[in-house]
Amino acid sequence: MDALDAKYPFFASAREAVASAGVSLPDLVAADAPAVERARERVERALLEGTVASESGAFPGESSSDAQAELLSYPIARILVSLLDSGPAIEKYAAAEAATAMERVRRDLEADDDLRSVSSATVALDDLLAEFDLADAVRPDATAPAGARGGVAGGAGGTGRDPDGYRIDVGPYLRLTSPEWGDSWRLVNRALADGAVRVSRDELLAALEAAVEERVAEGLPFEDLGEPLAEALEPRVADLRRLLSERTYTEPPDVVAPALFPPCMTNLIEKAERDVTLSAAESFALMAFLVGIGMTPDEVVAFCADTSLDAEGIRYQTEFLTDDRGTQYPPPTCETLANYGICHNEDDHMQVAADPLSYYETRVAAADEVTDWRDERDAEETEEA
Ligand code: SF4
Repeated sequence: MDALDAKYPFFASAREAVASAGVSLPDLVAADAPAVERARERVERALLEGTVASESGAFPGESSSDAQAELLSYPIARILVSLLDSGPAIEKYAAAEAATAMERVRRDLEADDDLRSVSSATVALDDLLAEFDLADAVRPDATAPAGARGGVAGGAGGTGRDPDGYRIDVGPYLRLTSPEWGDSWRLVNRALADGAVRVSRDELLAALEAAVEERVAEGLPFEDLGEPLAEALEPRVADLRRLLSERTYTEPPDVVAPALFPPCMTNLIEKAERDVTLSAAESFALMAFLVGIGMTPDEVVAFCADTSLDAEGIRYQTEFLTDDRGTQYPPPTCETLANYGICHNEDDHMQVAADPLSYYETRVAAADEVTDWRDERDAEETEEA
């Protein structure tokens, strides 16, 4: 097991390294090996902070025993997240593994070529493309500046720095990207030639992040883990569950019920409807809330049509908030909103929830009947047609 396997534990070679080491995961768990605690940390940090990097900041892998614990913590983390039995937790975990991996990839790619050629613990873009069977599907863009082209990446066999632009075959492009990332990702807005789509280097890395996320989530949750293993991990799973419930980590209610919006958001909407310009903090809080309850940029534009908020500004802000493939920035907390003078904490309802989104979730859950603004809008449009 080497440092590269520990750094990118979802690679096929890492899986083979675990298999050929003949390590029994149940035995490791029973022995409470260091990999088990690291696996718990991995899942906890994924769920709460969106990263699986070690809290110490050090990259474990400098010694071979560290590398072994780091690598083995990955399959154990996948078992832990399976035992949590929560779809959103699996998604969040896979997204955090992918985000951490791509942060490391970016650092590897930025490493100077000499370092890359001597270090076996860095990855080149060619390696990553090959890992996901994309080697033939991605090519440097022929219109990229002369001298920047050559190999797909600047690893062994490349010409140095990676080019700025690539062409990716339309099939993989559609599989790995989503129009929900923003209008610019829609195929109609892309330069398409000979069955390939032009993407920038950053966009290619975003697509690769999606490939990593898909790989990590593949096969999760594990079924039939066996009672002894589940029992041995129960204390750690219980810790993670407690954290989740403290953070009320649930899917946002994907329903737009303005009558149930928290007072802070209603006040902002009414202010904008009076054609008063919202401050940057007010506009951000409102957009983060609307995106947080599952509204798309188009829906937010339509919802705010008769307000002081302009469509272009709304699009810019909501696309930023939903960027990173739907991973939202959490709406500000009640405390933050109080500091900005946005929250007036009517009837001391801050006692009920710590942020407007949680408060809204509580109100939706308690309501007898919930009418979705989207259904009303659709009905009106049908009538008018
Ligand atoms: S307590 Fe929270 S939800 Fe209520 S008005 Fe203030 S910020 Fe909004």
